[in-house]
Amino acid sequence: MPELMVQIEGQSAPVRLAECFWVLTDTDGCAYGSMVGHCAATEEAAHRDFTPRQRDRDRQVRQGWRVRLLSREQWRSDAAPCFNGACQHRKAAVA
Ligand SMILES: [Zn+2]
Repeated sequence: MPELMVQIEGQSAPVRLAECFWVLTDTDGCAYGSMVGHCAATEEAAHRDFTPRQRDRDRQVRQGWRVRLLSREQWRSDAAPCFNGACQHRKAAVA
């Protein structure tokens, strides 16, 4: 199988999809779901995995939720704190 290369926002060089992570984020950019890059080839496919029901996906899109592709480094800095409950997003939402 050929190696799938992807371009990540904020990164200049393409990276291997298998080394990236799909993340489902809410309107504040807070991450709710995460899976390794090779589980899905497109944002739509990743969203289907995170949120199987079409109606729920439509609602998330309307509310501004997004599926983002993150590099390992971005995942560590942007998403990991969300799963640890230590991110700025939730602190901002509470304040
Ligand atoms: Zn967060």
